[in-house]
Amino acid sequence: MKKRINGSSLFWVLLKMNILPIILLTLVITTFSATRFADSMNKEVQNGLMNLCDTVITMYDLMYEGDYSAVEQDGAIYMLKGEHQLNGDFSIVDAVKEKTKVDITIFYQDTRVITTISDENGKRAIGTRASAIVIKDVLEEGKSSFYSKTSIEGEGYFAYYTPLRAADGTVIGMLFVGKPSAEVEALVFEAVKPIIIIGILTMILACLITIRFSNQLVGAIRKIESFLEKVAGGELRTEFDPMVLRRTDELGEMGRYIVRMQKSLRELVEQDILTKLNNRRSGEKLLKQVHERFERSGHPFCVAIGDIDHFKRVNDSYGHECGDKVLVEVSSRLKNNMYGKGFAVRWGGEEFLLVFEDMYLEEAVGHLQVILEDIRSVAVEAEDGQSVNVTMTFGIIQGSSEKLEHIIKDADTKLYFGKNNGRDQIVH
Ligand code: GH3
Ligand code: MG
Ligand code: MG
Repeated sequence: MKKRINGSSLFWVLLKMNILPIILLTLVITTFSATRFADSMNKEVQNGLMNLCDTVITMYDLMYEGDYSAVEQDGAIYMLKGEHQLNGDFSIVDAVKEKTKVDITIFYQDTRVITTISDENGKRAIGTRASAIVIKDVLEEGKSSFYSKTSIEGEGYFAYYTPLRAADGTVIGMLFVGKPSAEVEALVFEAVKPIIIIGILTMILACLITIRFSNQLVGAIRKIESFLEKVAGGELRTEFDPMVLRRTDELGEMGRYIVRMQKSLRELVEQDILTKLNNRRSGEKLLKQVHERFERSGHPFCVAIGDIDHFKRVNDSYGHECGDKVLVEVSSRLKNNMYGKGFAVRWGGEEFLLVFEDMYLEEAVGHLQVILEDIRSVAVEAEDGQSVNVTMTFGIIQGSSEKLEHIIKDADTKLYFGKNNGRDQIVH
C-alpha cells in the first residue's frame, strides 16, 4: 500500500466505522442474552430444589407420622419424626440423592444429624455445623432461604434451607437440599455456551462481510487514485481497469468521467485542433517509437512529407475560412488513406508528415500515389459556390538508422525538388 502524507487509509476508517459498532453490539446483545438465560436457568434450578425440598418433607410425613422432636439420652441428642429416630437412618436421603443427584441434610438446630454430604474420605459430615448466616435466617428467623454459594466442608453449594418445626411451632431443625455450585455453574455455562458461540460466530461473519465490502470499495477507489496519479504524471495512454468501469455505482461513474477526461486531455495535448490529426509534438513522439522499433528489430518504415500546392492562392482567392475547410478535407483523406498503413501528422500550416510502418519504399510510393490521386479529387465548396480543388507535392524516403532529423530533412529536400519541378507529384 502507498504511504499517504498523513498516513491515514480509507480502508481502516471504513473498518473502524463498521467493525467497532458490530463488536460493541454483539457484546451487548450476547452478554444481555447470556445473563438473562443464566438467570432463568438459576431460577429453574432454584425451583427444582424447592420442589425437591417439599417432596422430601412429604416423604417423611408419609413414612413417619407425627411431629419433629428431640430427646436426650446418655448425653447425646436424638432427633425424632413421630416415633421414628432419624439419627443413623439414611434410607430416604440416600434414595433421593441416588435418583436426583441432589444432596440432602437434616439438621437438629444447627448440627447435621443425617446427610448425604461426605468428606474426601467418604465420611459423612455428621455433627458439623451450619454457617452463621443460615443459622440467623432459617433457625432464628424461621424463613426458608436460598443461597447460591454456601460453604459446606470446604465446598460451595447452591442450597435451599427450610425450617423444621416441632409440635409447638418452634424451629427445631432444618432441611437442606443442594448441589455443589461448580456443578450448577457448569450446567448453566453449558446452556449459555451456544448463545455465546452463536454471538461470536455472527460477529466474525459480520466482520468478514464488512472487510470484504470495504476491500471492494477501497480497491475501486485505489484503482481510481492510481489511474489519476498516472494521468497527473502525463501518462495519457494508460488503460483504466475495466472492472471499475463496469460498476454501476458512483465509483463506476467517476471512473467513466476520468477516462473521458483522459481522452479529452490526450486530444488537447496530442491532436491538432483544426484537422484532428496528430499534432507535430505527438507525431515526433510516434515517429521516434517507429525509429526505435526499426533499430531494435529491423521493422522497415518510410517517411513522406507533403505540402499543399499554391495554398496561399486558396486563402487569397476564397478566404481563410475556405482554406481551413480545404485543410480539414485534405487531412481527413490523409487520415483515412493511412489507416492500417501508419499515421498522418499535421507537421506545419499546410504541410503533412506521413509515416508508413512495416513497409519498404516501393510499396509506400504505391500507396502514396493512391493518396495523391485522392487529394486531386478534393472539391471543397467556396462561399461563392465555386468548387476548390487542390494538389499536393510529396517527398518520400526509406527510413534508416540515420538520425530522425536527417531522415526528415532528406524527405523535405525531395519535396522541394518536386515543388521546383512542377508540383503535384511524388519525389523518391
Ligand atoms: P507552395 O506550392 O510553394 O507550397 O505554395 P504555398 O502557397 O502553398 O506556400 P506558402 O508557404 O507561400 O503559403 C502557405 C500558406 O498557408 C500561407 C498561410 O497563410 C497558409 N496557412 C498556414 N496555415 C493555415 C491555416 O491553418 N489555415 C489557413 N486557412 N491557411 C493557413
Ligand atoms: Mg504549400
Ligand atoms: Mg508550406
